[in-house]
Amino acid sequence: MLAGRLLDGTGVQPQADVAIRIAGGRIESIESADASPPDHASHMVDLRKWWVMPGLIDAHMHLWGLTPGEVVPADFESRLASAQQQATALLHAGFATVRDLGSPITPWIRDSARDNPPTAPRVLAAHVGLTGARGPWLIPQPSWWEARVVRGAASAGEAVRRLHDEGVDVVKIGASTGPGAEGFGDIPTLTVREIRAVCDAAHGLGLPVAAHAIGSEAVRRCVVGGVDTIEHGYGLSNDVCELVAASDAWIVPTLRTRAVRASPEARATAREQMDTLRRGEAAGIRYAAGTDSVGDAFTLHGPGNALEVELMGRVLSPDAALAAGTREAARMLGVDGETGTLAVGKCADLIAVPEDPRKDLSVLQRVAFVMRSGQLVRSDVSAGNG
Ligand SMILES: [Zn+2]
Repeated sequence: MLAGRLLDGTGVQPQADVAIRIAGGRIESIESADASPPDHASHMVDLRKWWVMPGLIDAHMHLWGLTPGEVVPADFESRLASAQQQATALLHAGFATVRDLGSPITPWIRDSARDNPPTAPRVLAAHVGLTGARGPWLIPQPSWWEARVVRGAASAGEAVRRLHDEGVDVVKIGASTGPGAEGFGDIPTLTVREIRAVCDAAHGLGLPVAAHAIGSEAVRRCVVGGVDTIEHGYGLSNDVCELVAASDAWIVPTLRTRAVRASPEARATAREQMDTLRRGEAAGIRYAAGTDSVGDAFTLHGPGNALEVELMGRVLSPDAALAAGTREAARMLGVDGETGTLAVGKCADLIAVPEDPRKDLSVLQRVAFVMRSGQLVRSDVSAGNG
């Protein structure tokens, strides 16, 4: 493959005119095109007019298999078919890896993608979440969201072992109140003891813990309890920002889902999210990009998921925002040995965009070429002018 500009995602300056050799789904060599004899010219992918970079990561989303206009969930088979289409749309938009933080459908998508990389991103799945008995998480069925109640530390350990047996990649907990009439609440739903019991059990089984947590007290409990990733994580005092920054925890700010809505509540939440991101960045918190998209009319799965990186770039530097959607997200998810940067030995998960994404992060919504694990997913590069 010939790349006009290579932004390998490691943070170094872009390289011009690069030859990338791929074998067995992995990157075999990256060298100057001048130094690389054109021995495979007949089947060489020509991206000389394009910017080549690592495949994107959405570190917080949900494949619920929604279809437009649906108000109650369809049967499982219909949802599975719809979720499969959404997963394919994400891959075509350049997402090589996604983490689903709550959907009973997603383990099926994950398992079928393992054998057939061009049909879906690499998927890390939480299956169903755990929450405390308090607050409106437990929406009457039928619901897109499913959660199990944890009451006390013993119950937490048991719930984690069951999820482990069901094959989850990550344990999701709802640590502050769930969706109500005016959005999510900031009332804690689990005690530090319960959170610690979840984390101890999960870590003992090699699983990370992701916590939905909004507001200072819920996030403080998560950090003290040993949570690995804090989802949403806004409405934080400066003291709690410092606490997160000093811990091993990451925050996934999930900006897209509020930014695309016009209601006064959504606008107020979006402002609060940006304010916390600004103060958290100053405190030194580590961030990864995740949209909380669910595939509804506001948050269709596809090119729009890349809006998250652009929104993060309104506070973070362009380089830091890009890293949040690639290298840093891969580190957070523990898949940085496979993806997140383009380097010899890693999976050939790569995309091409028409311009320097550092100058305009919106080009991430105009991905024209996608390769996952060395397999061609999509190529519209002949039509573009690069
Ligand atoms: Zn979510």
